[in-house]
Amino acid sequence: MTESWAEKILKTLRKTFTLGKWITSNRNSFKTLIATIISQNTTDKNTTKAFKNISKQFRITPETLANAEKSKIEECLKVAGLYRRKAKTIKRVSKIIVEEFNGDLTRILSMSFEEARKTLLQLPGVGPKTADVVLLFCAEKPTIPIDTHVNRVSKRLDLAPKNGDYEAVRKSLQALYDPEDYLDIHVLLILLGRKYCKARNPLCKQCPVNMYCRLTTI
Ligand code: SF4
Repeated sequence: MTESWAEKILKTLRKTFTLGKWITSNRNSFKTLIATIISQNTTDKNTTKAFKNISKQFRITPETLANAEKSKIEECLKVAGLYRRKAKTIKRVSKIIVEEFNGDLTRILSMSFEEARKTLLQLPGVGPKTADVVLLFCAEKPTIPIDTHVNRVSKRLDLAPKNGDYEAVRKSLQALYDPEDYLDIHVLLILLGRKYCKARNPLCKQCPVNMYCRLTTI
């Protein structure tokens, strides 16, 4: 069978990048949820710093964060921006998980994909990207989270419609790849976006998939 355009891109990216630390099994779903809430509207670097701060100050469990002083959480998150709102969200979501879900996300993650996604989306601070990150990385559910890199790069590579919204991009990518490749393509598009296909001034000359890209500036 001839390889599709999308498969060729995946194959080339697999040869270019190592997935390493991204592919760890048994990710803690609550920590992943908190890290993804912190990552909203900020850079990867600032997310890492803020997550380190909060991890030094508190045990990252729903019980601890539900009862933590809001001002102390805010202090940890200052570097990531929107810290007041994020601290409030983290306390609220922790409280709900304690009171309604027995203190962890296991019950939600053992539901069917559709049910689990719907339930996560009802939690404060959880939008489609956060829900999809938790579902993919912590429960191996068949979804592709669309962050800013995945959105930009997949559109430039014609893997998604140019004006597509979150769901259009997610569905387009999911239709092009096998569910077993969802995690890899999600991570590989992020790595491509960080290193070569930058928002401004993409490095098309050095880009490993420039032969598949109509936007190339070479
Ligand atoms: S060739 Fe340029 S625009 Fe196309 S994917 Fe590579 S870096 Fe992005």
